[in-house]
Amino acid sequence: MTEEIADPSHPRYQSLMMRKKVSDAGAKGMLAESAMIAHGRGEAFDYLLSEQTIDSAFAATKEVAARLVKAKKPVLSLNGNAIALAAREFLLIASQLGCPIEINIFYRTPQRMGALLAHLKLLNTNLDLDVEILGGVPDARIPGLEGPRAACQQKGIFEADTILVPLEDGDRCEALIAMGKEVLVIDLNPLSRSARTGTVAVVDEVTRVAKNLVQLIPQKPEITDWNNDQALQDALNHIVKTMSKKFE
Ligand code: ATP
Repeated sequence: MTEEIADPSHPRYQSLMMRKKVSDAGAKGMLAESAMIAHGRGEAFDYLLSEQTIDSAFAATKEVAARLVKAKKPVLSLNGNAIALAAREFLLIASQLGCPIEINIFYRTPQRMGALLAHLKLLNTNLDLDVEILGGVPDARIPGLEGPRAACQQKGIFEADTILVPLEDGDRCEALIAMGKEVLVIDLNPLSRSARTGTVAVVDEVTRVAKNLVQLIPQKPEITDWNNDQALQDALNHIVKTMSKKFE
């Protein structure tokens, strides 16, 4: 696969490199088998968005940056795909905010948690950062969820007032909102339950959003009176407009 996509002039180079990152992380034991399917769903929506950050997504990213900066106790809740694709950027964001990262995965096994913790901790050291990495020793539960995916850490997700949840599943997003938290979602699917339930949803690819957040957080933008439904409608309108133009 590497040889075939090594040429950056390949029209699908970025997309293929991301697919390779997910595939490599899977080979290292960091992901569940369904990870590539979730990634593929994201890819399909990214294709419809022309693989770019649309204006409403950039505005949403700015809103997320503002709310993370203003939060009393923010936390970044990362799943396997988010770590596979943008671990470096999320470590930088956590360092800028002085907040922890909590690994929170849907299909929790000791092996997968171990692989993800080791990956983040090594990168933390290599980048010379001192970000607290939580998730390894859950001591609290998200109310309203069954099974291992409710597991979380008291001083992380449980006590946080504001949580960034890239690629979260709808159930957990709803449960976090029910706990009274601000939930900041990153999801390429404007129709997903997470996007519709979150306080602010960024309809954009997680790597692009994380890079934009690294630039925006130091600017300390102001919180606005955010209308999430309007932003999701803008994303849908963009898709419809772009797709209909292709056949004009
Ligand atoms: P919900 O329960 O919220 O309706 P779902 O069951 O479709 O969502 P999952 O399959 O758990 O959600 O997660 C995959 C989600 O993550 C999809 O909505 C997909 O669009 C999104 N996604 C996948 N890869 C990326 C990516 N690289 N950047 C942003 N979003 C992504």
